[in-house]
Amino acid sequence: MLNDIKEVLFSEEYLANIVQRMGKQISEDYKDKNLLMVSVLKGSVVFMADLMRAISVPCRVDFMSVSSYGSGVKTSGVVKIVKDLDIPLAGYDLLVVEDILDSGMTLSYILELLQSRGPRSIRLCTLFDKPERRTVDITADYVGTTVPDAFIVGYGLDYDEKYRNLPFVGILKPEVYGG
Ligand code: 5GP
Ligand code: MG
Ligand code: MG
Repeated sequence: MLNDIKEVLFSEEYLANIVQRMGKQISEDYKDKNLLMVSVLKGSVVFMADLMRAISVPCRVDFMSVSSYGSGVKTSGVVKIVKDLDIPLAGYDLLVVEDILDSGMTLSYILELLQSRGPRSIRLCTLFDKPERRTVDITADYVGTTVPDAFIVGYGLDYDEKYRNLPFVGILKPEVYGG
């Protein structure tokens, strides 16, 4: 598995620092709100697990799963709900937690859907942002760090469902995905 990594972009320690900083900011912003963190599976699961423990105000969590990528590296534009949320959204201040904001198509679809369910507010939180890849007009309210336009894996992010368990984030060797 480690042989497939060309370069480590963010170490475990670096990621932990980012998440702590985001958790502090979110705790400050949501102290008088009714926070419901919504994690978009599966990529954000590692980030979510760390971020929720870096948040010091009361919060609830829920999960949804959409598919937009299949096993490849390019957005198909098709977003399908694989698993919906359990909690009705009325009265909640939603924080949508994503692993990476790339074209923005996935998140823009999710946002519209969640907005239609009448939550009190919605904000977006993404660990990674690739702003130059955006095809729809969307910006996150909380961004961990911007990343270069390369395909990254680890800390929840997969290629073909692999590499999610790497504790750091790295760039795959192009030959691994036939690039
Ligand atoms: P978007 O709809 O913004 O183009 O795509 C968002 C989703 O694409 C992310 O949640 C993630 O699953 C996947 N994605 C985008 N860029 C990368 C990347 O560099 N590495 C990995 N592993 N997944 C990515
Ligand atoms: Mg995601
Ligand atoms: Mg994926």
